[in-house]
This record gives sequence, structure tokens and C-alpha cells, in this order.
Amino acid sequence: MREADADARPLNELVRLPADQVHVAKQAFVAMQFKSAKGPYPQIPCGCGRTIPLRFAIRCLYCGEYYCEACAEVHFGETREEYRRRHKQA
Ligand SMILES: [Zn+2]
Ligand SMILES: [Zn+2]
Repeated sequence: MREADADARPLNELVRLPADQVHVAKQAFVAMQFKSAKGPYPQIPCGCGRTIPLRFAIRCLYCGEYYCEACAEVHFGETREEYRRRHKQA
């Protein structure tokens, strides 16, 4: 499982890579997430280093990556609290 950790860590550094390299690294990371999720209680490693049960992981429709709740809010650009407030106003 050491290899998975090594793959997961540089993901937060990806912003500094050229776009095509980010894409390739992202695909590798998502593939690693899929591989990690096995057994009766599958766990998903998030890019932040946390590991979460698959049933609590949030998957992005666009890039296919799984996120923990905190990272999903950052990735989708809005917290759940902000979303709730926005929809009450609308
Ligand atoms: Zn995404
Ligand atoms: Zn996370």
C-alpha cells in the first residue's frame, strides 16, 4: 500500500504541471482510486491523503475523481452551506 501513498501525495502539486501532464497524472490517480476500492468495505484514498469509505466518497461528474467531503467542496467551488443558502434565496 506504500505505492498508493506515493501516487496520492503529489496530486496537490499538480496545479504547477502543464495541462497535458496534469491530465495524465489525474488519470493515473483515478485508476489507483478504482484499484483501491475492493472488498466488502471498499475504501477510497482522497488526494488530500485521507482515506474514506467508498459510500461517503463524492465522485466528480467531469473528471471522475473521488473526493472526501472537504475536498469535494473545494473541487466543486461551493460549500454545502453556501449551496443551501443560495437555493433558499432563489
Ligand atoms: Zn472534477
Ligand atoms: Zn480529501
